[in-house]
Amino acid sequence: MHKLKDSQLLKCCSYINGSWHSSDSQFDVLNPASGAVVAVVSNAGAPETELAVRSAKAALAMWSAKSANERAVLMRKWFDLMMENQDDLSRILTLEQGKPLGEAKGEIAYGAAFIEWFAEEGKRVYGDIIPSAAGDKRILVFKQPVGVVASITPWNFPNAMIARKAAAALAAGCTFVVRPAAQTPLSALAMAELAERAGIPAGVFNVVVGEDARGMGKVLTQHPDVAKFTFTGSTAVGKSLIAQCASTVKKVSMELGGNAPFIVFDDADIDAAVQGAIDSKYRNAGQTCVCTNRIFVQQDVLEQFTDKFTMAVAKLTIGNGLDGAQIGPMITSSAVSDVEKLVADSIAAGATVIFGGKRDPAGENFYQPTILTNVTNDMPIAANEIFGPVSPIISFTDEAEVIALANSTEYGLASYFYSRDIGRIWRVSERLEFGMVGVNEGIISNPAAPFGGIKQSGSGREGSKYGLDDYLEIKYVCIGGLNK
Ligand code: NAP
Repeated sequence: MHKLKDSQLLKCCSYINGSWHSSDSQFDVLNPASGAVVAVVSNAGAPETELAVRSAKAALAMWSAKSANERAVLMRKWFDLMMENQDDLSRILTLEQGKPLGEAKGEIAYGAAFIEWFAEEGKRVYGDIIPSAAGDKRILVFKQPVGVVASITPWNFPNAMIARKAAAALAAGCTFVVRPAAQTPLSALAMAELAERAGIPAGVFNVVVGEDARGMGKVLTQHPDVAKFTFTGSTAVGKSLIAQCASTVKKVSMELGGNAPFIVFDDADIDAAVQGAIDSKYRNAGQTCVCTNRIFVQQDVLEQFTDKFTMAVAKLTIGNGLDGAQIGPMITSSAVSDVEKLVADSIAAGATVIFGGKRDPAGENFYQPTILTNVTNDMPIAANEIFGPVSPIISFTDEAEVIALANSTEYGLASYFYSRDIGRIWRVSERLEFGMVGVNEGIISNPAAPFGGIKQSGSGREGSKYGLDDYLEIKYVCIGGLNK
């Protein structure tokens, strides 16, 4: 039915301690493009989550005792299997999430790249020897795995949000439990199937799928055997999960929401800026945390940019992601309603729709790529994370003004600007209060770079050597009595 080359990749039960667990109840996974049932999945809950944590704890001594090289061999095999099965994995991803097949293929390669990269980086977990003030003492620093890592991930990148966390955790010698969003459990389960085929031992990588986010989340955030909790999702849910982690003082990493500014200065290459805005706004129908949320254009180039951008947006095709469309469905009808409301409230506040602005006839979950002008930074469309294919354009006159506007948000994840003035590039890069800045570039994430936010966009980094540190504890060893 799903035209997979390997039908064994479509799994419908949680993967705990190296085996597949069915539960008494089940839930449907729906295709957001059509509403059709893609799969019926066993509905795990808190007891299965508890079992997964216990399994991860039991496997920890064995996995952390392996050398980084031994772990890298298994992880490399996992990476190879993901790439060998890229077509099937992307098909499963598009069926449950809706994004265009080409983007889904990109996500599989992106997720797999983290596994490959961290497998190698795990070999470079260096300690330290620090000169001591006392001649008869030595100061040593060890870096050791934090222990069992628990995570909760969202539906918008059903593969990569897991791979980014699991790759660093496993490379560091930690064991891992993930509870993916109930809308998109199938990509996570396919990853588990391939982890098993790669020879990753039972208990090291566990996936629990179920609808009881709250109950499962309580286990993952409060279980004493979980040493670290890592979450990707909305800021509101992240805040409540941080509070839950307090009772056992867990190490916590949070990848939360964003409100990315995209600034076009009057010295920018306008064609490049248009392409960057398309890339950073309309990927995944605008449902990424690093999506451009507010486009600021300097007054002198406002008309030129808006005209060219509108022409580019008009070329985007909308439809089922399996049929070659560039804009797929949004995840649910209520997500579309949220975007409709933001647009309507902003029109009421004075914004003008110059392109799109409606649900699309392609289906209930489709919203047209949309452009709004005459927007101000305090309108709902600019003040909130849109999470849909809408571009609000805001004009500005000078650099100081736009930096203040861009920074006036509680979020601090991604930001972008286009300029060819080297002085401005340094100044603006330093003054934007965001964890990531794309300069003349709309796609910035890769495994070697530290992905993450400041302010209420979260804490911790994924990818890069800093991402590995998030899964390591520092231990100080003082050796004394060395003098004869
Ligand atoms: P969400 O509502 O916060 O959900 C994210 C995950 O948390 C899902 O697995 C969800 O499960 C689960 N969840 C919800 N309420 C929970 C609770 N009380 N206890 C435990 N788990 C709970 O976020 P979303 O709307 O699905 O995802 C979009 C958000 O994620 C956006 O704000 C986006 O910016 C952010 N995001 C951030 C990054 C980043 O790297 N910074 C990357 C991607 C997305 P169910 O879905 O099954 O309810």
